[in-house]
Amino acid sequence: GSLLTARGLRKTYGPTPALENASFDIAAGEIVAVMGPSGSGKSTLLHCLAGIVAPDAGELRYQGRDVAAMSDRERSALRRHDFGFVFQFGQLVPELTCAENAALPLRLNGVRRREAARRAAEWLARLEVDDVSGKLPGEVSGGQGQRVAIARALAAGPRVVFADEPTGALDSFNSERVMNLLTDAARESGAAVVLVTHDARVAAYSDREVVVRDGRTRSLGWAA
Ligand code: ADP
Ligand code: ADP
Repeated sequence: GSLLTARGLRKTYGPTPALENASFDIAAGEIVAVMGPSGSGKSTLLHCLAGIVAPDAGELRYQGRDVAAMSDRERSALRRHDFGFVFQFGQLVPELTCAENAALPLRLNGVRRREAARRAAEWLARLEVDDVSGKLPGEVSGGQGQRVAIARALAAGPRVVFADEPTGALDSFNSERVMNLLTDAARESGAAVVLVTHDARVAAYSDREVVVRDGRTRSLGWAA
């Protein structure tokens, strides 16, 4: 069955809609790439799916629950407990060490300091960045920073990870390394991944691709 389902999403910012009749499904543990040229509506789709942006029309269901019918409090609890986020840059808190950054979602979910630190350390090791645990984000490379961000996204045990151009700031060597680690870690933890990218080499790590063009979705491959 589907974990997250969207039907007929529309979102308009200006004269032309950023999303128009967009549909999307993802099953538990599945890795789906959302592809398309710059400005096609990929990020808008991701933000709607993640309950960050309210669509103007359409339906969004997570585990069968109507996301629009939830209160703001329920929606933010859902984001905190069930979703993880990885973005292109700038998502680590600059004043916190890499270890503190990785532990942050656990702390926000009420996990005690020692246990949060233990689980964060496990994930930093899993992503092969335990050596930068004590450093500030400004003291590590782009590839290391992205791996810390992935450790942070996965440490709290999300069911869905939303990754928006997670390798957009990396060279091809580091992109491959980050994608291998991200997809292995997601598969190991059973998390589904919504992977937004314009790069076919990155999309190749997914199980399935959805293409967005002028705000409209189109499925490729095995999709129904
Ligand atoms: P992509 O991620 O594929 O590059 P986006 O979803 O970011 O595409 O953008 C789709 C369209 O919506 C673009 O024309 C963009 O300029 C517009 N857009 C996206 N976010 C906003 C916003 N917050 N305010 C105004 N326009 C926006
Ligand atoms: P703000 O932080 O300004 O409150 P939000 O994005 O949290 O903005 O929400 C703006 C409005 O859209 C709120 O009324 C919220 O209930 C609603 N909303 C947010 N995300 C969704 C969603 N995915 N589906 C339906 N409604 C949503």
